[in-house]
This record gives sequence, structure tokens and C-alpha cells, in this order.
Amino acid sequence: MTSWIKIPENSDFPLQNIPFGIAKSGETISPATRIGNTVIMLSALADYGFFDILDLDDLSIFYQPVLNDIAALSRQQRVNIRERLSVLFSDTCDELKQHTEAHSAACFNSNDIEMLLPVHIGDYTDFYSSIEHATNVGVMFRDPDNALLPNWRYLPVGYHGRSSSIVVSGTDIHRPKGQTRPDDNLPPVFGPSKQVDFELEMGFITSGSTKLGDSITAKDAEDHIFGMVLFNDLSARDIQRWEYVPLGPFLSKSFGSVVSPWIVTLEALEPFRVEGPKQEPAVFPYLQTSGKRNIDVSLEVYLQPQHGEENLICRSNFRHMYWNMSQQLAHQTVAGCNINPGDLYASGTISGPTHNSFGSMLELAWKGTRPIQLLDDTQRTFVLDNDTLIIRGFAQKNGLRIGFGECVTKILPAK
Ligand code: MN
Repeated sequence: MTSWIKIPENSDFPLQNIPFGIAKSGETISPATRIGNTVIMLSALADYGFFDILDLDDLSIFYQPVLNDIAALSRQQRVNIRERLSVLFSDTCDELKQHTEAHSAACFNSNDIEMLLPVHIGDYTDFYSSIEHATNVGVMFRDPDNALLPNWRYLPVGYHGRSSSIVVSGTDIHRPKGQTRPDDNLPPVFGPSKQVDFELEMGFITSGSTKLGDSITAKDAEDHIFGMVLFNDLSARDIQRWEYVPLGPFLSKSFGSVVSPWIVTLEALEPFRVEGPKQEPAVFPYLQTSGKRNIDVSLEVYLQPQHGEENLICRSNFRHMYWNMSQQLAHQTVAGCNINPGDLYASGTISGPTHNSFGSMLELAWKGTRPIQLLDDTQRTFVLDNDTLIIRGFAQKNGLRIGFGECVTKILPAK
């Protein structure tokens, strides 16, 4: 299937992707999709009646400044919108191609567009679902012989995070200040964190809602997943170490977290499904899934010093996840917690089995003991002021590439 829109080679956004985002052009803010380097405003397509043939009661969903109303649709309705878009932009369809007025009202070069946070995130959970990451942290901070805590293989460990400080790619974040205790024999001190880190994660956005008291089975969970984003869960390790006992991370994680702007649907990622790791012991029935529930998404993290070039410091893959998204959502709701459209569920740091696939600087530089060498002959054990972090992710197979674009943030000096 090819498009009448020009798509550069190796683009993350072929006609088979059709992601959803929120785009801003001048004063106009609209739900949008992207093909190649062209951003398409869905409100303009709705203006000209291109969605009238869809069985939608209310076309106001195409005029909202967030995608929550689209996320509230049924899976079939969302599939219908994507299919309508792929028909409109395919070579075989003249409907929009020949309508020059609608075409120029809807299509913009991505360089002329600002991307906004795609959904209003009501609730945010961060999981801890990579066995390699959990093992590395256990080895570093606890006991190498018992790296995983006893609960880890029984349930997808997670915590409720802060949604107000989740920002879209391109937003810079100030280094946090807080309490730390660098010397265990001395009282704590206050000041800017000296151990700002990234966490390479992916997240999924929920669709639909459930009632308080109801739960979603792992088997049906994918019907409640709108799509996926890249996610950088910025973390201040020194603040975290002092504050996290006994209730878990707090200010060390809430000073800013970054999402990529395009929500890539599970339908687009369908060709890249893979089996997950074998789970032992067998999981409880409410967590049991069948079929391929993991996804082969190549992930890269780059660190770019202020006046330097990009350094590839991590290459990992979403397929390594021990707990899959269906299990995470089943676990989130099994006690009766309700969900809403636009909630964000992050995977936890995605580390792979090899040293260069570790998904945080804590692991890459192994608690500061193995500094990361950069191309400009400087070293890093954690992130310095004015360093930029870039996460990229894409799935690729048999000539088809479905990508996520970028998740970028610069760490500014403390305020
Ligand atoms: Mn995290």
C-alpha cells in the first residue's frame, strides 16, 4: 500500500502507521496524524466531511485539544478512523488528493507544526517489569544472590506516579533540588541532585473506561489499549535513595517525565508481535495470556552534550519485557481500581541482557563505577546540566518500518 504523499526512505511514518497526536499550527490545535513528514489535521478533514461516512455519533472528537474523546471510542470505531485515513491517503483514492482546498487546509510540513501532549493524563502508573533491570538494581543495592524480591515473579510491581509533571517531547526540565544523604554516617543535606538519570521506557494509553469494582482480564486487556508512546521517566537517584523507604519513589520521579507526541496503535504494531520470556512460576489465572503479547520495538538512547554530537549510549528492545501490557492492566484493575481513557501505564526501565542494552545510566555506568565514555572525550556517570537525552524507537521487518519518532528533553540547571 503506497501513498500519494511523499514518504522519505526509513521514515517512522509510512501509510501503515497512522499514529494519533495533537498538533498546533498558528492558533489551531487539532487531533492529527502523520504520514512521512506531513502532519494532517483531522479537524480540517472533518470540516470537509471526510469522516461523514463513519458511523460516529459526534464529530466533535476531531476538534478537541486532547485525544481523550477518541480514546473513549470502542476499538472498532478507532480502527474505522485509521482505515478511513489510510484509504484517503492511498494512491488508489482521489477523493482528497483531487480536493486541493481540503488538502491544503489539512496537510502541513512537520517542521511547521508544534506537537502538544496527546492526552490529558488523569492517572499514571509506572511498572517495574523488566527482569534484567530489576535484577541489576537488586544486585547493586541488595543481594546478588537474591536480586529479585520474593513478589517479583508473582505480580507486576508498580507504583502510582504523578501525572501533572508529564510533558511532551521537546520540553526541557530543570535539575531537581531535594534532600539527599551522600554519607550514611552524617545527616542528610539539601541541594540540587547530583545523580539525575533517565529511564528508557515505553508506555501505553488506555481506551474506554471501567466502573469502580470491575476488573479487566488479561485476555481482554488489549481492547482497552489505545496505543503506545516512548517514555523517559527522569529520576534523581540520590533523592530516591533517601526518600523511598517505606512508601516508594516520590519527589525523585515527579520533577518531570517525558512522552513522545505520537500514539502508535496496537493495530500498526500487529506485524511485530513476538513471544515474551517464559514466566516461572506459572502466573495466577487472572494474569494468564495466550498468543504473542510482546512487541519487537528497537529502542535507542542518545546523550548529546551542549555543544557536542549525539552519543548512542543504549540499544535495547521492548521485546525483553517479562510482564506484558495485558498483564499490567489486568493487575492494575484486579482489586477493583477503575480506569479512564487517556491514563498512562509505563513499562518500567527496559533493560536487555547485554551491558549496552541497560536502560538507565545507573546501570550503564554501574552505580558510577564504570563511567560512560563520550565522543568529545568527556565521561558521564549521571546526566550533567545542558545534556540532551533522546529516545528513539521503531519496529522493522520485511521492509516495513513503524516508528515512534523521538522523545527529547534537555536537563537545565536547577532553578
Ligand atoms: Mn520508571
